[in-house]
Amino acid sequence: MKKIGVLTSGGDAPGMNACVRAVVRYAIYNGLTVYGIERGYSGLINNHMVEMNKRSVSDIIQRGGTILKTARCPEFREDKYMQIAVDNMEAYGIEGLVVIGGDGSYRGALDLYNKFGVKAVGIPGTIDNDLAYTDYTLGFDTSVNTVVSAINNLRDTMTSHDRVCIIEVMGRKCGDIALYAGISGGAEMILVPEVECDLKKIVKKISLNQRIGKTSDIIVLAEGVCKAEELKQELKDNGILGSIKTTTLGYIQRGGAPSMFDRVLAARCAVRAVDLLMQDKGGRVVGIKDNKIIDEDIAEALAQERHFDKELYDTAMILGL
Ligand code: ADP
Repeated sequence: MKKIGVLTSGGDAPGMNACVRAVVRYAIYNGLTVYGIERGYSGLINNHMVEMNKRSVSDIIQRGGTILKTARCPEFREDKYMQIAVDNMEAYGIEGLVVIGGDGSYRGALDLYNKFGVKAVGIPGTIDNDLAYTDYTLGFDTSVNTVVSAINNLRDTMTSHDRVCIIEVMGRKCGDIALYAGISGGAEMILVPEVECDLKKIVKKISLNQRIGKTSDIIVLAEGVCKAEELKQELKDNGILGSIKTTTLGYIQRGGAPSMFDRVLAARCAVRAVDLLMQDKGGRVVGIKDNKIIDEDIAEALAQERHFDKELYDTAMILGL
């Protein structure tokens, strides 16, 4: 394999730039030509591909977002558009593709490989940490640290005013951002989609806290459970007195300089992905298990069921008493 492409797809995540940089530089180091494909799969369809050199990726390791831009490209699900993408890649002589994205992006990579024989390798780039085959995805650690810092700020003001605060965080159907940020920020309660929400227990805990003079509580709520305002209403309807404030952190969680962990993960995943392509292997995804870089068949990786760390959740609940 002499020429490869790299793209970022789906929701952006801190660490994507560090990963693009590592893919480009490691590939060039190994004598490959690398094309940066703009705006995910739509760049393949619209022929937006530029040859990268070592300097094209200067000064980006510390930046969130993605210099290649990212986009959602619904037409890529249709074979006729995928065929255009494949023809364009062939015209450039691109034989392998590194796809940095989440499960949707992986499905696109799988179709490219199964239907058209394009050697595509996936690297997990999403803040949600919702891919079962890997312990961590790029961006998750940075995002959690952003939430922890927000919890610190919110706790200052909520404690001063004796308020209960509900902080709604991202993660789609996955509660990992809420769990890890909640335990790190010392949250009194963490609500995630993986654990059934017992409203009575929450009300009891807040009421008890108020009776013993603990007048401020932090509740970290995963967006996959419900909206912060809905929970606030439920608490009020169930007799919680006093001031309840809600904060939805939103897109602030998606930006920012990637953490050390995400930068190192980006470098390690990039090296494995390029190594796989140099061995002419495609249809695989790279990840991290027990601090070792692994690669797996895409279809098998996507079929795995996510494991939620209930033990860590229970610990967080005990410590947040
Ligand atoms: P993420 O990769 O973060 O999960 P999306 O689910 O939006 O984000 O997927 C990103 C892109 O991947 C989509 O815009 C589309 O181009 C492509 N994609 C998603 N699902 C499929 C599919 N089933 N077949 C082909 N391409 C897909």
